[in-house]
Amino acid sequence: FYSKAVLSIVSKDKVIGSVIILKNITEFQQMDEAKTNFIATISHELKTPISSIKMSLKLLEDSRIGAVNTEQRQLLENIDEDARRLLQITAELLDMAQAETGKLNLHFGSTHPQNIVDYTIKALKTTAEQKHITINVKCAQNLPDVHADLDKSTWVLINLLSNAIKYSHEKSVVDLVVKKHHNDEVEFSVEDHGRGIDQQYLSRIFDRYFKVPGTTTDQTGTGLGLAIAKDFIEAQAGKIGVESELGEGSRFYFTLKMAGKN
Ligand code: ADP
Repeated sequence: FYSKAVLSIVSKDKVIGSVIILKNITEFQQMDEAKTNFIATISHELKTPISSIKMSLKLLEDSRIGAVNTEQRQLLENIDEDARRLLQITAELLDMAQAETGKLNLHFGSTHPQNIVDYTIKALKTTAEQKHITINVKCAQNLPDVHADLDKSTWVLINLLSNAIKYSHEKSVVDLVVKKHHNDEVEFSVEDHGRGIDQQYLSRIFDRYFKVPGTTTDQTGTGLGLAIAKDFIEAQAGKIGVESELGEGSRFYFTLKMAGKN
């Protein structure tokens, strides 16, 4: 494979020549594939021992093995939280590697948008309450079913809503809106009134590992969530995007095909 760049040489508004630069990128592509396979293998291999740590922690918490004092319980909870986080990171890495190699396994079915919304709200109710954030759900009347992978679509909406909560100020409002879009799509959107995103970073927000520089709150993030969300939505023939204003808030949206219109 070659990448090509053409430069024109202009003198007095006239093109007097051009330079073509050809670069062999086969080696880069092979390296990229090797990296992706490596990530897939590692994340797969890590899943088992981390799950086993979680199982052992559960056993330790079981009073039949012996009581733990408050301090020890706190330590166990810390380890459990870290193990949960590690599992999430390995799952994200695996999803990303699978998407990159086109091995994403989708299970399509007909589902009502309300199901996706209900699962999402259930998953994040407590997180929102902890920050006293109100989630305003507005589902249009008579929404049609969508042709989608329920788990992956729910994963995307959970990710967008979780970011909205993460980057919102306490006691603010997040709008989750679902409506028909054009003739054959349903649009899900999540709008927050949080810190917003600088225009200069908007085009890179869906890139792998990208995190807006200079932010302190998102140190726990991998910068993979939105990249995977994009893979999941595009694999379902949908579109994903963002509009944002620094200091005002952001609106992330995605579309899914209506059932029967795919
Ligand atoms: P992460 O796991 O780091 O949150 P994401 O891919 O979900 O990764 O997001 C990438 C980056 O985009 C985040 O680190 C954050 O800087 C920015 N971002 C995402 N959602 C929002 C939002 N609703 N408001 C402001 N910034 C956001």
